Amino acid sequence: MPRTAVPAPALAGGDAPVAHLPGVGPAVAAKLAERGIVTLQDLWFLLPLRYEDRTRLTPIRELRPGPAQQAEGRVLHVERTFRGRPVLKVTLGDEDGALLQLRFFHFRGAQVQGFQPGRRVRVFGEVRPGQGGWEIIHPSYRLLGDTEAAGLSDRLDPVYPLVEGLGPGSVARLVRLALERLPAGDALELVPAATWGGLGLPGLREALLTVHRPPVEADVAALLSGTHPAQQRLAFEELLAHSLGLRRQRIVLREHGAFPLPVARAAVDALRATLPFALTGAQRRVLAEIERDLAEPVPMLRLVQGDVGSGKTVVAALAAMQAVAAGRQVALMAPTELLAEQHLRNFQRWFEPHGVRVAWLAGKVTGKARREALAAIADGSAPIVVGTHALMQGGVAFGALGLVIVDEQHRFGVHQRLALRDKGLEGERVPHQLVMTATPIPRTLAMTAYADLDLSVIDELPPGRTPVATVAVAAERRPELVERVRRACAEGRQAYWVCPLIEDSEEIEAQAAQSTFEQLSEALPELRLALLHGRMKPAEKQDTMRRFQAGDLQLLVATTVIEVGVDVPNASLMVIENAERLGLAQLHQLRGRVGRGSAASSCVLLYQSPLGVVARERLEVMRRSNDGFAIAEKDLELRGPGELLGTRQTGLAAFRIADLGRDARLLPQVAAIADSLLAGSPEIASAVIARWVGSAARYASA
Ligand code: ADP
Ligand code: MG
Repeated sequence: MPRTAVPAPALAGGDAPVAHLPGVGPAVAAKLAERGIVTLQDLWFLLPLRYEDRTRLTPIRELRPGPAQQAEGRVLHVERTFRGRPVLKVTLGDEDGALLQLRFFHFRGAQVQGFQPGRRVRVFGEVRPGQGGWEIIHPSYRLLGDTEAAGLSDRLDPVYPLVEGLGPGSVARLVRLALERLPAGDALELVPAATWGGLGLPGLREALLTVHRPPVEADVAALLSGTHPAQQRLAFEELLAHSLGLRRQRIVLREHGAFPLPVARAAVDALRATLPFALTGAQRRVLAEIERDLAEPVPMLRLVQGDVGSGKTVVAALAAMQAVAAGRQVALMAPTELLAEQHLRNFQRWFEPHGVRVAWLAGKVTGKARREALAAIADGSAPIVVGTHALMQGGVAFGALGLVIVDEQHRFGVHQRLALRDKGLEGERVPHQLVMTATPIPRTLAMTAYADLDLSVIDELPPGRTPVATVAVAAERRPELVERVRRACAEGRQAYWVCPLIEDSEEIEAQAAQSTFEQLSEALPELRLALLHGRMKPAEKQDTMRRFQAGDLQLLVATTVIEVGVDVPNASLMVIENAERLGLAQLHQLRGRVGRGSAASSCVLLYQSPLGVVARERLEVMRRSNDGFAIAEKDLELRGPGELLGTRQTGLAAFRIADLGRDARLLPQVAAIADSLLAGSPEIASAVIARWVGSAARYASA
């Protein structure tokens, strides 16, 4: 149907190039362009990442780690040391006798001179616990005269995203200049006010002015927490833009079409008949949804959510059979080698008796084996290929890809999923997509975060599972747990002892696991135990996992590498160290490694006392509930969706101002408006997407 010509929405002068601003020569314009800032509108919508609060002074003893704070004191002591590089330490004290240490790694002689003992100094920075009290590394600071009446800021200072090659001051200046050219009235509005008027939020002009330059009387606490109506107005439009982008991407994909994979009752039933169990009702329902989608000449775009242990893998296998029966290839991608290997073994066991070959491709497959795998993938002689993200790399070409399955998709970025899909582009057609996740997220959130996908939920566990009994135990009681592991293993069970990240480094995590392993080896000399961490060679990891799976090993001391997907039904006891530091979703994933067989299983959460309030609440939630959805809702409440969704998994990750958890109340409206704009005013939809997300191309490769 030809569309009637609709005039482009008014750009209100926002399309004027930044080069029109005073002081923006070709060099600056080029630097801005690299960051996607080309027009005045791009500067209007270059929103502050956060604010710095210099509106008050915090007494030193009330300083806390967290956002940067401002404090004042007098120089007590100055020390210059050299530890591989010069270090300047300045100790400040205040009238209460509280001490604050400043540490500098880059400094000039004149700076050192400035810190005369007794000199008044005002500092601003992030506080952390140091040796002997609070410490700030590289604070910004100002030396004050003895009696100087140094006022406080009357408003919050916006902090802008970095633009490579421009100082923060220049960016702020450019935004200010651009704002002077903000059109009057409601010329900026793209979305008809009638649709969002009910939210009680200000117009865009007022919202932008407030957010860039908070007025003196603005509610500071609201601005700092992102809940000010001005911020909410912008967040609303940003959520709308992303939602529109994902929805439109879905429409475009479906216009491509796909090879229909007719329902293959006989082949699928033959595979089902060889399984050692019957499908649950939920598995059957979800499988039927998938089978129907696959038979269509448009690509399936379906997300299967199912709690850990709900049996997603076998549903994927049955879907794969339908594709294979139709003569198309299937690619199954998992986020870790460990999990991909496990899928390989399962798929081989299930498919090879039916004469279907399963090929393997991971980063470590090299040389001749790699060439052979690539050839079989290219000429179609491998109907099923299991692997890691190696599947997406250049040089991998599929002969006749019909179905892409992505397991534990929250571990991948959206662009990785799209890259694999693009492997299957054949003429105009794209492969069907099945993505699976054990991260259950509430429905409204899913509708926005996965606006391009249909949703199926496996909301039932296979029969005979007993819920994992969970207890939280202070780390001091470790010796009792060692006994418990001893007993469980003596009874023929297997156990995991998990040492999660205690610092943000795989190296340190591996070390912690190593030392726990040594202690446990000593305490439990009669057990066959092994260590598993991310720093080990893939072959070693694989071998260890295989021995644990086969029951040769009784105790596996591991880092969180075992978090996703690992399935050893005889393992019925799990100890998780430092449990208070993990998020609920992650704890639930880990705990999901036990309780997979029919034996009663337990999970012990070891924590370092004393526990903070939130940590205590988190452990309590884990103790009370085995339901992934309930836990996810709680996680959302306690930590926000960034943690729950991972930071990169959705096309929604890089928000300028919105926050899926905080702004959840906007989502139903966003979804409704997105649908109506796409249906009725596609040109407005395009303008909103362009304003917030940039071109569609940039979106897909984000
Ligand atoms: P997840 O959904 O966490 O990926 P898996 O697919 O790994 O779960 O399945 C967990 C375990 O449950 C596996 O050992 C699998 O063979 C088994 N399983 C799957 N479906 C059923 C079923 N309907 N009845 C009994 N066991 C099942
Ligand atoms: Mg799984």
